Amino acid sequence: MTDAKNPIQEGIRHPSDTYIIIDLEWNQPIPWIKSKVDPKTLPGEIIEIGAVKLTVGESGVALGGPFHMLIRPVCYTIMNKNVSRVIGKLSSDLRSGLGFIEAYDAFIKWCGEDFILCGWGNSDLSILKSNLRFHDRSAILGHPFLDVQMFFSKIAEGKANQRSVEYAVDFLKIPKRKEFHEAHRDAEYTGRILKALFEAIMSDHMHAVNPFPEDPAEPGKTADTEPIRPEIIDLERYLFDPDLNVHAERKTALFDTWDQCCRLTFDEDAYCPACGSKLIPELPWFRIRKAAFSLFRCERHNLVAGRIRMKKNASGKVYGSVNMKLIQPGETVPILERFEEYKNFGPAGKPVSIPKGETIHPEN
Ligand SMILES: [Zn+2]
Repeated sequence: MTDAKNPIQEGIRHPSDTYIIIDLEWNQPIPWIKSKVDPKTLPGEIIEIGAVKLTVGESGVALGGPFHMLIRPVCYTIMNKNVSRVIGKLSSDLRSGLGFIEAYDAFIKWCGEDFILCGWGNSDLSILKSNLRFHDRSAILGHPFLDVQMFFSKIAEGKANQRSVEYAVDFLKIPKRKEFHEAHRDAEYTGRILKALFEAIMSDHMHAVNPFPEDPAEPGKTADTEPIRPEIIDLERYLFDPDLNVHAERKTALFDTWDQCCRLTFDEDAYCPACGSKLIPELPWFRIRKAAFSLFRCERHNLVAGRIRMKKNASGKVYGSVNMKLIQPGETVPILERFEEYKNFGPAGKPVSIPKGETIHPEN
């Protein structure tokens, strides 16, 4: 018997047996219409919640019936033209539906207790949090999040592309029956995509890619290089905690040269900014010009990005300002791009053309 809560299927380890895929639609402010809220605190007001439930059991992966609710906005009650173009709604459509809190409570009840929250990209999360705050609710979601868009690109394509739902549906040959861009339909398609990915991993029909180097001594084995097929895809490695936004900053000691500063700092142990435990290096420190970058993993909090900015004090001594930050799996892309630059050009980085009239100041 497998543990019902943490089923291991052929080639895949699930951190929970339930995945809830959400898709929200929201209206945006119209710049010349004065609203009662600062658009910075409420960049979008949710007008529709769509979700589906994916359950993993011994008999396979099952997609349940959808959750769908229309919400009557209280701030942005006139349809923004750009939003309307995408989701095909009119201002008159915004006059029906439940209040946000009523709809959200129904959604939470429908979700159950133990699940992983999923979505296509992570823009829904910040909108959901801003709507909760606006309605005086706690913005703590309390469940790990899986970005299916990122998971699709890593598993199916081996790199972090930002594909559309429709692209993935075509790629996975999922039959198309309904129009895209209505909350429950997008949620349903995203659910079908996740189900198809699980089934593809299980039936071994696709090249699965391990997005991180297995061996920190060989940092070249990252997402964009040769696909490596791990024995078991551990979903835990693709999750992030939507309630944590943690970073820690510190200064190194003073040194005579940046080389000395780097040599010492690169060899030091690194610690998770959320829980303080020792981090496992994923991509060891590398330096480009006056900055250095790295990727680590915390057993509990997943990915941590390291960055050192090199600075000089008044008496000419140098030091590094070290920042360690929890990141989402999709946020590794710029670091991997910098690593590519480092592999091609070394610490000097990609040559930049110097505009006329400026001179180069040597760094050391
Ligand atoms: Zn941690």
